[in-house]
Amino acid sequence: MAYDKSIAAFEEAYKVIPGGVDSPVRAFSGVEGTPPFIERGEGGYLYDIDGNRYIDYVQSWGPLIFGHCDSDIETAVIDAVKRGLSFGAPTTVETELAQEIVDLFESIDKVRFVSSGTEAVMSAIRLARGFTGRDDIVKFTGCYHGHSDSLLVQAGSGAATFGNPSSPGVPADLTKHTLLATYNDIESVKQCFADSKEGIACVIIEPIAGNMGLVPAEEQFLQELRAVCNEHGTLLIFDEVMSGFRASLKGAQGITKVKPDMVTLGKVIGGGMPVGAFGGAKEIMAHLSPEGPVYQAGTLSGNPVAMAAGLTSLRKLKSNPALYVELANRAKTLMEGFKKAAEAVNVPMVTDVRGSMFGFFFSDKPVKNFADALENDQKLFAKFHKGMLDRGVYLACSSFETGFISTATTDAMIEESIKAAYETLKEITA
Ligand SMILES: *Cc1c(COP(=O)(O)O)cnc(C)c1O
Repeated sequence: MAYDKSIAAFEEAYKVIPGGVDSPVRAFSGVEGTPPFIERGEGGYLYDIDGNRYIDYVQSWGPLIFGHCDSDIETAVIDAVKRGLSFGAPTTVETELAQEIVDLFESIDKVRFVSSGTEAVMSAIRLARGFTGRDDIVKFTGCYHGHSDSLLVQAGSGAATFGNPSSPGVPADLTKHTLLATYNDIESVKQCFADSKEGIACVIIEPIAGNMGLVPAEEQFLQELRAVCNEHGTLLIFDEVMSGFRASLKGAQGITKVKPDMVTLGKVIGGGMPVGAFGGAKEIMAHLSPEGPVYQAGTLSGNPVAMAAGLTSLRKLKSNPALYVELANRAKTLMEGFKKAAEAVNVPMVTDVRGSMFGFFFSDKPVKNFADALENDQKLFAKFHKGMLDRGVYLACSSFETGFISTATTDAMIEESIKAAYETLKEITA
């Protein structure tokens, strides 16, 4: 495949945008080659400015569960645009979308809309701190919750420790209140509770982790986590920005029996437009401004165009519950195909699927936490990624990302992708 125009476009972008991209994951830093610059999408396909066509398993990093240019979402957005882009005043579409979410999630009585997942989580943490009157929070190594200061803390050793910021510009004074635990390891959580002098406001977790590759939490672990939180009067927050409406219609909450106190949502909830949300029990949400003292605001929050895209997406998902079975079947077929292709060249691979989410690691042991994930063969992944791209298969450009199936991903696309995997693996292990 020729990438000449994308290479030139990347050079131009580099001159005026740091790293040439507006979000670091897009830069292809961990893989070979230059990121294709996208001209347009159509159903399950992406087209770049060199005219190459790709089967899209990134789907804007999750939001596009109906693929590109879904006609219902497009119509709803265009209708909304014609009424005006933004008012900074209440609209009924916000209540309609809120109602859909409240109906769907048992743990949500009230919900507030924001413009990104980062904002949703940042605000949920503030509310949890305001509600409990405590500063310390617990997060898990390898879980991503957006780029707000107190959450930009990741890898420590396996043991629970007080977090060090993982980016310059984040004051250690802020992250000292973020305690790190190990995913799927309840003892590490208990250690955080023992280490915290003043008590813990909340534990935040991706109940199906998607930002260290796809690593679901074990049911027993979630149950124990719930029990520990109950014991300490600590709020349990499920960050379902990625897994919401992806793992199932209700996200992880359609799979686990464990009920969180608060939930954060994003990605699919905006159908491709910038929307995030956080919600919970009404006693907790009553602490939020203007009902309560915890401040949170946004000029474009609940934007009517974005709400229209989200509402249409959610109603489409709700009206067709069988859809998640179809998406999961395609995801399973794809992962079984990749695994067999790897076996054919004696390369170990572990795979997992949750609804429309899939993940694979070039690794010979199950991945239960971030330390396990780090053991995957990233060099082999980089070669695999390039080989697949050259064969028209657009996978996320890091071995720590999750892949997505949309309703526009056909069986023929899955078959073609598996064939590409056989060819690529044969080539890169020869
Ligand atoms: C993507 C993501 C976020 C951040 O959302 P943005 O819209 O990128 O700010 C937060 N939490 C999880 C679990 C995510 O996957």
